[in-house]
Amino acid sequence: MDIKEKNIKEISRQLLIDKKIPVTRPRILFLEILLKNKGPLKVEDVILKSKGNLAVSSIYRIINDLKETNLIDEFQTLDNTKVIEIIEDEHHHHIFCQSCGTVLDFVLNTKLEKNLEKEIAQIESTYDISVLSHRLELVILCKKCK
Ligand SMILES: [Zn+2]
Ligand SMILES: [Zn+2]
Repeated sequence: MDIKEKNIKEISRQLLIDKKIPVTRPRILFLEILLKNKGPLKVEDVILKSKGNLAVSSIYRIINDLKETNLIDEFQTLDNTKVIEIIEDEHHHHIFCQSCGTVLDFVLNTKLEKNLEKEIAQIESTYDISVLSHRLELVILCKKCK
C-alpha cells in the first residue's frame, strides 16, 4: 500500500469518526472509492469500481446510512441516474453532459453566488415563500461529445 492510498483510508476513517458513524470495513471501502474519484459518481460506477469487494446490497445500504448522517448527498442526472458525492463545505453546482452523462462539479464565483442569493431573497418576498436551497445546472456537450 503506498502512502497516498494509506491517506485515503485514513481520511475515510476520519470522515466516519467525525460524523459519529461506526467505522466498518465496507464503509471505509465505499468512501475510498468516492475520495479517489474526487467528484460525483454514479451509483453504477461505485459498483463497478468496488470490483466485487462490496456486495451491491451493502452499497445501497451504505448509501442510505451515509445520506441519513449527511456525509453524502444524492442527486440525479438528466436521465434520472442516481449520483452520489461526499458533502463538502464549499457550495457548488453541477454540469451534466447530455450525450454521455458525465457529471462534473463547478463553483460559481463569490460575487455571482451572492447576487443569486439576493435575487432569491427578492423571489421569496415576491411570492411570500421560503427558499430552502437552490441548484444551478449546466447541460452541456463535453469535450469528447461535442
Ligand atoms: Zn459527453
Ligand atoms: Zn457535486
